[in-house]
Amino acid sequence: MNKEKIINFKGYVDLHFHLDGSLDIATVRELMKLNNIKDDLSDEEIRKKTKVGKDCKDLNEYLSKFDFPISLLQTKSAISYAFYAVKERLMREGLIYAEIRFSPAFFTSGGLTQEEVIASAIEGACRSKFNAKLILCLMRNQNLETNMETVLLAKKYIGDTIVSLDLAGAEGLFPTKDFRSLFIKAKELDIPFTIHAGEADGASSVKAALDFGAKRIGHGVNSFKDKDIIDYVINNNITYEVCPTSNLNTRVINSVLDYPLRDLLNKNILVTINTDNTSVSNTSIQNEFILINDSFDLKESEFKTLLKNSINSAFLPRTDKDALLKELDLKFKEINI
Ligand SMILES: [Zn+2]
Repeated sequence: MNKEKIINFKGYVDLHFHLDGSLDIATVRELMKLNNIKDDLSDEEIRKKTKVGKDCKDLNEYLSKFDFPISLLQTKSAISYAFYAVKERLMREGLIYAEIRFSPAFFTSGGLTQEEVIASAIEGACRSKFNAKLILCLMRNQNLETNMETVLLAKKYIGDTIVSLDLAGAEGLFPTKDFRSLFIKAKELDIPFTIHAGEADGASSVKAALDFGAKRIGHGVNSFKDKDIIDYVINNNITYEVCPTSNLNTRVINSVLDYPLRDLLNKNILVTINTDNTSVSNTSIQNEFILINDSFDLKESEFKTLLKNSINSAFLPRTDKDALLKELDLKFKEINI
């Protein structure tokens, strides 16, 4: 597919986007101001604190780049501002829809309760007109009680802004199977969820996530060649949230060509392309599509399918998805595809 068309396209969707891994330099500076931190850092110094280098070893090192942004997100005003600023930026970058995820428990070190964090996130998100929903992350390194509180708050707040749960964090250190009780509860409460799996751990992690009832799998890379899982994914309309640059950073793949992308698309699997963390991975959704196109020479029909997959996989009611599909069609027409 012609690269110019990918660059000029203004209808992108990002379903796998972590707030704290996606703060740009201007937002970090504003958050430092809100936290009364003297801003004597150069752009390069901020980048060093929020972005992995080419020598990133694995997911554990990757996750260490969240420490500084998380330290800035411990007050109501900072949280509110960050959600507002991120949504405004996504709109400027040519997206038509995004799902922004975060762990409320990570923003409680300054004394806020998880509920106050969620309320501040909703308040900030609602100040921007950009069409985005929020996903609450349960964290692998948090205790059961904290995560269960997040599940119950998801039930309380699910609606116009909060739409689902996720499980994130160091998959290699805290296996998916250990979080069963949380997802039994989520299912009982009728809360949909995605789970990070098959990224730093193998296909068994994806199998556990699917057994819990996950509708979407974050990454899933290590299950792409598992016939039983692929059969299940096809038969149950499961979505894969693929995040290419992030997978290169954490060495889940050596090359984008390691994905059997065309094979998955030919099987009509709901593959989607996402950023994961625009600051930690130094990327954008447009950049992810350029990367995929450079490797696979996408057909225009495949580009369209990937974006339609994202909308069809969104945690939205059917009527909202149909409206977005219409908007997407107009955006395709703008670049003559
Ligand atoms: Zn992620």
